[in-house]
Amino acid sequence: MEENALILGAGMTGLAAGIASGLPVVEAADSPGGICLSYRMRPGDEQPLPPDSDEDEAYRFENGGGHWIFGGDPTVLHFIRRLVPVRRYARRSSVYFPDNGSYVPYPIQNHLRYLDKSVALQALAEMASPAAPGTTMADWVSGNFGDTLGDLFFAPFHELYTAGLYRDIAPQDSYKSPVNLKLALQGAFADAPAVGYNTTFIYPEGGLNLLAQRMAAQCQVAYGRRVTGFDLEARKIRFADGSEQAYQQILSTLPLNQVMNMAGLTVAAKADPHTSVLVLNIGATRGDKCPDDHWLYIPRSDSGFHRVGFYSNVDRSFLPASARAAGDRVSIYIERAYPAGAQPDAANVANYCANVVRELQQWGFIGEAEVVHPTWVDVAYTWSWPGSPWKQQALRALEEAGIYQVGRYGRWIFQGIADSIRDGFIAGNGFRGYPGIPAHGAGE
Ligand SMILES: Cc1cc2nc3c(=O)[nH]c(=O)nc-3n(C[C@H](O)[C@H](O)[C@H](O)COP(=O)(O)OP(=O)(O)OC[C@H]3O[C@@H](n4cnc5c(N)ncnc54)[C@H](O)[C@@H]3O)c2cc1C
Repeated sequence: MEENALILGAGMTGLAAGIASGLPVVEAADSPGGICLSYRMRPGDEQPLPPDSDEDEAYRFENGGGHWIFGGDPTVLHFIRRLVPVRRYARRSSVYFPDNGSYVPYPIQNHLRYLDKSVALQALAEMASPAAPGTTMADWVSGNFGDTLGDLFFAPFHELYTAGLYRDIAPQDSYKSPVNLKLALQGAFADAPAVGYNTTFIYPEGGLNLLAQRMAAQCQVAYGRRVTGFDLEARKIRFADGSEQAYQQILSTLPLNQVMNMAGLTVAAKADPHTSVLVLNIGATRGDKCPDDHWLYIPRSDSGFHRVGFYSNVDRSFLPASARAAGDRVSIYIERAYPAGAQPDAANVANYCANVVRELQQWGFIGEAEVVHPTWVDVAYTWSWPGSPWKQQALRALEEAGIYQVGRYGRWIFQGIADSIRDGFIAGNGFRGYPGIPAHGAGE
């Protein structure tokens, strides 16, 4: 039989793979973009407008909270710029301590002069004699930054960010907490230069949706086609509508754990963990203590969230058109992590939304909330147990069945949009020239 192939998922990775390979893409949702999907809501509305709406008197939010394009291969950035006009922004972010309303610019370890002098000196002394790295994220953090900064920020923040996993998982996104004693010393007494993976970033002028739509216009995408299972022996994909499709090769951008489950596969190693995230998008009148930061890291909050981002502090185009000039509105995304798949029920979500609004009002960040809309990202952050071979074993088992995983969730790696697009291009190129499986085809 002639070899054929299909791409699963029309997020940034699957779209890039679709463009590079010319193969069809199947997507569960009704529109492209995956976690990067933007949507609009008018003040007072409870439901988003249809995905193709360009209503200007609406807040523009993103499914997964603010998605800013950091770093990235220059050729990928060139590709993005050819599709959509973009602007570049210089990062403004801080750690916020709600107990006393103080801010320390990110990264906290390079801005110790914002802390009490005795705390700063103690933190410096501890950073100057790092402990052995250990095997877990908690070991890594306390080994590099010591107990003083650990108790103040790193431990409570990582507890929230990893939904309690950080004492058991391997260190992984250490680039987010850069270690540099020379800069820490400099920042204890004077200005320190901006560092880290995201000192500047770009964002499409018309929103991230526009990028997804323009990429999708270069692919054949079949929407509303949810994959529910694989028959590996017969090499068939099952869809939610009961139809089946034969395949020889699949490029899948779906989360590795879900594909393993749908394929009925297990491997010897214990599966690596992940966390889910509830993103709360809020449009509101601007409070008198609302900061100008693009986002804040929060070590303690009554409602349990760990990051507050401000879409409209990045760009006012996220606000309803008539509110852009006055600057009296703000649009915000709030992230709270949950253990894998532990999605709260509707009553608990409603309760959480009310608590967050109250807490942000108490902090003076917002006045009256005009729109409050939660979204759920089931596989948001993927982690590994120290030394775990699960990912390699799972990827190999799927490859033997003709299923090649790609992208952040597919390969269970930490990466941003630009790298997801790059990996989609690379994988797609490897499949160029295969005849595509008709993406709309029902059972065969
Ligand atoms: C909270 C959060 C914040 C982030 N912030 C940033 C940021 O600021 N900047 C940045 O560069 N990156 C950020 N990222 C990372 C970025 O989101 C990813 O790198 C990128 O979006 C991954 O794209 P993807 O196509 O691989 O995955 P996805 O966007 O998840 O796409 C997968 C697609 O598969 C579809 N699908 C799923 N299941 C099925 C099924 N059974 N059948 C058919 N289709 C299915 C989904 O609907 C989706 O469209 C963030 C991630 C998270 C979780």
